Amino acid sequence: MRIATSTRSVHLVDLGIDPDFQSTIEVPAGICRLTIRGDGPIELSPLDGPNAEPNSASGGEVLVEPVPRGRELRLLVAAAPGTVVRVNGELDLGLASLEPGDVMQVADRVVHLAEHVHCVIGTAPAELAERLCPVCQKPARTDPVYLCPACGAPVHCRPDDGTGEVEGRQCLLGRECPCCRSAVMTDGYRQLPEL
Ligand SMILES: [Zn+2]
Ligand SMILES: [Zn+2]
Repeated sequence: MRIATSTRSVHLVDLGIDPDFQSTIEVPAGICRLTIRGDGPIELSPLDGPNAEPNSASGGEVLVEPVPRGRELRLLVAAAPGTVVRVNGELDLGLASLEPGDVMQVADRVVHLAEHVHCVIGTAPAELAERLCPVCQKPARTDPVYLCPACGAPVHCRPDDGTGEVEGRQCLLGRECPCCRSAVMTDGYRQLPEL
């Protein structure tokens, strides 16, 4: 059986100039430069990485960095002098901390923040093997677990292997994490913009 994993990342959803056009990109760890070239899709490039290049965008310069804050994921956004960034419609000229669901506007471009969650149900990883399931108070290692992407709690959960055969203890009842009450998700977006 696979090892249980849980990852979260911030994605930028660019609705584009053309309403039929939409692109979504993941914000990698570290500081990235957000670039907008003409009508093209938004681009992210590592500030100091091998692909770093001088900023040639006409829309100004914006730096972004994803940071965890408690159970939340935030995106730090810093605008260079002269670059106007609006956050949720408000003018913001300096450093802002955005959360999934927020909308920022750089030049004429509207960019939504969405959180992407990817979880695999399976055997508890070694470092969490002795953590207690919040429901049955038995160690995580005894049965397959779901790792809550928000609080990290391992909760016993029967994996669906596609064959219809399920094994193990089912402590995950309902659609909320019994520990932090955040929604149970295995793969997908939170806070996608309404289209
Ligand atoms: Zn349990
Ligand atoms: Zn939780």
